[in-house]
Amino acid sequence: MILYKLQCDLDHAFEAWFSNSEAFEQQSKCNLIKCPKCGSTIISKAIMAPNIGVKTNRKEHSSSNFNSSGGMAIASGPASTDPQHETFKTKRRIAAAARKLREFVKKNADYVGSEFAIEARKIHYEEAEERGIYGKASNIEIRELLEEGIEVQPLPTLPEDQN
Ligand SMILES: [Zn+2]
Repeated sequence: MILYKLQCDLDHAFEAWFSNSEAFEQQSKCNLIKCPKCGSTIISKAIMAPNIGVKTNRKEHSSSNFNSSGGMAIASGPASTDPQHETFKTKRRIAAAARKLREFVKKNADYVGSEFAIEARKIHYEEAEERGIYGKASNIEIRELLEEGIEVQPLPTLPEDQN
């Protein structure tokens, strides 16, 4: 005798004894096996290891989830970069460079205050000793100097200058 786990076309599971596998085939063909719950004669052998299928499906499912979420992470990576943090880092870098430039100028150039445009012109036209100078100049003065071909570098303002 063989115990078969069977199910009907409505997924009702039940068990039935057969003298052998041929007996099952025969009775199945002749629609002699009936579902005890609904009377359906469309009977098939139940899949004996459904758990393996479920596990495999879960693995594939989770791995494909991982792939798709991983792809999304890469795609959203640049967009999620904190722009404020980047700006802060850039500002710090510029401030450090500005500080160096100003220190260099202060060491190597004479401070002429608001006479900057006048002094720059004198040096340019060789009326004064050729040297580096720095001082204050309005935007108009700077533009005039540049138009005359006098090289002028604006000095970046540092936070401590405003004190
Ligand atoms: Zn049934």
